[in-house]
Amino acid sequence: KFNTNVGQHILKNPGVSDAIVEKAFLKPTDTVLEVGPGTGNLTVRILERAKKCICVELDPRMAAEVTKRVQGTPEQKKLEVMLGDVIKTELPAFDVCISNTPYQISSPLVFKLLAMPNPPRTSVLMFQREFALRLTARPGETLYCRLSVNAQFWAKITHIMKVGKNNFRPPPQVESSVVRIEPKIGKDRPNISWDEWDGVLRVCFVRKNKTLRANWLGTKEVVSMVERNYRTWCAMNGVAVDESIVEDGDDAVGDDVDMEADGDAMAVDEDEEVPDFFKERQQQSSVPKTKSKRKKTRVHELVREKIRKVLEDVTELADKRAGKCDETDFLRLLHAFNEEGIHFS
Ligand code: SAM
Repeated sequence: KFNTNVGQHILKNPGVSDAIVEKAFLKPTDTVLEVGPGTGNLTVRILERAKKCICVELDPRMAAEVTKRVQGTPEQKKLEVMLGDVIKTELPAFDVCISNTPYQISSPLVFKLLAMPNPPRTSVLMFQREFALRLTARPGETLYCRLSVNAQFWAKITHIMKVGKNNFRPPPQVESSVVRIEPKIGKDRPNISWDEWDGVLRVCFVRKNKTLRANWLGTKEVVSMVERNYRTWCAMNGVAVDESIVEDGDDAVGDDVDMEADGDAMAVDEDEEVPDFFKERQQQSSVPKTKSKRKKTRVHELVREKIRKVLEDVTELADKRAGKCDETDFLRLLHAFNEEGIHFS
């Protein structure tokens, strides 16, 4: 009956459903977004405590099920069901998000909630245990990744409770955890552009156990991406770009760092999405390599030099690995790049 391909693991323990809704500290004036109501075990509890519950459900059978469950009750008019993929849906305003999250969308859902201009006051979300641990991982820990940095930069994350697999029908393969995400607001919210911040993190975490020097200067794609961004900034600020040719160079990876020496220049950390500027290279990687001559422009060299300067002279982070860097390190990097006219949005 349940489609586990879309993460349908229904909560069968009423105690857990009660606890999740309780931990959201709902007010009678709240509008709640519930992701994936399924048969409505959380929904009915939300409806008892909130002004309104908007459910986004992918599976039409489940949408029908939850609608039927409240039909004829006083709560019926408080429920709105939207059919579709929550990640692709433009969401109306809401105060609190509650979800027994289909694990396939854990990461995009968290990113979507954090990046909202007016994020919900609180989100209480069930995830796979390991994903929950990623959200709270600290620099140097194995699970520390781009998600950890973003989540803790934009929000306060609290691990609320562990939930064993036998509380679900059918039981999933792994254990779960409920976490609370409370976005920083007002003066606590970093006054930084989401895209700029995440742009720096994406490169730093392409290989989190490589040095920042290797990630930023070791591949053509990253330097070319930075060059494109720098050109855009120059165009917007009336700065002339020097297109003259320095020399004919080998069309190989960076001159001063050769990541391909250990054969994984193209590999990206398993838990990272592949950044767009890397995709082209990955697609090409099956084609045998022949060295070709490429003309190097002065602006390309200038950009390489700017990156080197930021990493080595200004921040002195060139030899550090993203997996060990903290928020302050990433902030210093972003500011130093911005000072050089390098932006990521
Ligand atoms: N809330 C119910 C409960 O706790 O018993 C069901 C939770 S079940 C883990 C996840 C639900 O999310 C399923 O009903 C599934 O159909 C739905 N779902 C899966 N992917 C979705 C998506 N991208 N957008 C919205 N709903 C989705």
